[in-house]
Amino acid sequence: MSVLDEFTLHGKTAIVTGSSKGIGRALAVALAEAGADICLVNRSEREGRLAAEEIAAETGVETLAVPADVTDEDDVEAMVEATLDAFGSIDILVNNAGIARTAPAHEMSLETWNEVLQTNLTGVFLCTKHAGKAMIDGGGGTIVNMASMSAFVANYPQEEVVYHASKGGVVSFTRQLASEWAKYDVRANAMAPGYIRTEMVDELLAENPDMESAWLSEMLMEEMAPPEDLGGTVVYLASDASSYMTGETVVIDGGYTVR
Ligand code: NDP
Repeated sequence: MSVLDEFTLHGKTAIVTGSSKGIGRALAVALAEAGADICLVNRSEREGRLAAEEIAAETGVETLAVPADVTDEDDVEAMVEATLDAFGSIDILVNNAGIARTAPAHEMSLETWNEVLQTNLTGVFLCTKHAGKAMIDGGGGTIVNMASMSAFVANYPQEEVVYHASKGGVVSFTRQLASEWAKYDVRANAMAPGYIRTEMVDELLAENPDMESAWLSEMLMEEMAPPEDLGGTVVYLASDASSYMTGETVVIDGGYTVR
């Protein structure tokens, strides 16, 4: 058996939240290319369906699009049920859905604070709770949570304390979950990307285009990455290639946090 065989996901089923576009879509493609059938989850029914159709056509795996809001427990329960009905098991959960909002802390509304924490942290909890139960019942699985380098460093010049609080929470949640669920053969790790060129980043730059040069000056690699650059890491974390790894967060940031 070659080491490359450890990366295969043939016969596995993966749920990827926030997979209609951006990073989540690229992660879904990577997992599909490794052989997994994919349940794509996001709120827009049309965008999710189109992404699912394209990924199935490109990779040959089975895909299912389930519209769901990760902050709504009824939606999440129904999404997990639909995945089990379609594929019979859940082996991989990628908690990627997330949003960013900027505002100075002394001017941020409680509504904005709650919106970000609900999506980035409560959404991770709800999907983990329900998909994780299916993993435990099925004898094990792997969870990959989307954190950010923002969990480890302050970012400049945007003001976004709630985003940093949410991603720090994801790293801590992942570590503790790994400790509690090792006995069920469920591993949990996280990814912490730097700046990745997606709509989320384009919206931030639309508020203040000067931010881009400030960001690039902090990066050893002096460029933002496309979402596809995260594909290898998610396949590693989801597969047997990382079978002795749990509770960790992998930073992929072009060297932003190095100095
Ligand atoms: P995008 O805005 O490009 O995509 C976000 C995705 O999440 C969409 O599919 C969106 O679909 C979905 N989504 C948003 N809210 C919900 C919700 N409540 N329920 C279900 N789905 C939802 O974001 P990115 O691809 O840039 O970011 C993806 C993740 O990566 C986020 O967690 C982000 O914090 C993280 N990240 C991003 C970085 C970057 O530089 N881009 C860097 C580090 C981390 P819909 O609106 O239809 O629901």
